[in-house]
Amino acid sequence: MKPIAIILFGSPGSGKGTQSKYLVEWLRIPQISTGDMLREHIRAGDPIGLAIQERMRAGSLVSDDLVNQLVFERIRQPDARNGFILDGYPRTPTQAEEMMRLLTNVGAGEVVIHLVVDYNVIISRMSGRRVCPKCGTLYNSVSRPPKVEGVCDLDGTPLVIRDDDREQVVRERLVQYERQTQPLLEFFRAVNDRLIEVDASGDRPEVVFGRIKSELKNLVRK
Ligand code: AMP
Repeated sequence: MKPIAIILFGSPGSGKGTQSKYLVEWLRIPQISTGDMLREHIRAGDPIGLAIQERMRAGSLVSDDLVNQLVFERIRQPDARNGFILDGYPRTPTQAEEMMRLLTNVGAGEVVIHLVVDYNVIISRMSGRRVCPKCGTLYNSVSRPPKVEGVCDLDGTPLVIRDDDREQVVRERLVQYERQTQPLLEFFRAVNDRLIEVDASGDRPEVVFGRIKSELKNLVRK
């Protein structure tokens, strides 16, 4: 069977990370998050990390060449043979064009899932966001609080605010999204009819995932 490339599309704070985790469990294919890969380089303090840390901290996008290269290498790993979930990529028209080339090369068919969320909901969600620095689990004071305030349910590590979730940076990321990424929806509409629009504003993440699942099943039946 043809590998499936699921592209999770939506603004920062639309729930792409959370929905990716559900999809990984359901479909048994890996999540490829360019944000996570870039943060990993920063944590490692390697040359890539040093080169990008200022831009990341400011909420700006890093270069197309770099993220294209990271994705190019990642989707050739054996665990991505049957498909993968792209979370946070592509984000610019150049990335979108390169992605289409990459998918053709590996013979993958793409489905785009657009998580549609109201602007005010995003601001309130992102300001309540916390992450476990050890295992990466995401929490939110409103929609997904930890059992004990301020510590990770899984390993008891104190939770932190990610550098790029600070308010000033959140606003900058939303500006970047509207300017550079939102226009990609038109690109996707033009190149394929496998674009699913899912309301991801008001409900719990499991409810949103239920919608994604049924839309994906409908698509497979077509
Ligand atoms: P994310 O975790 O996906 O919200 O990404 C966090 C930050 O990583 C972004 O604000 C960008 O600085 C950088 N980043 C992640 N993915 C990309 C991408 N596809 N293109 C450019 N920069 C990216």
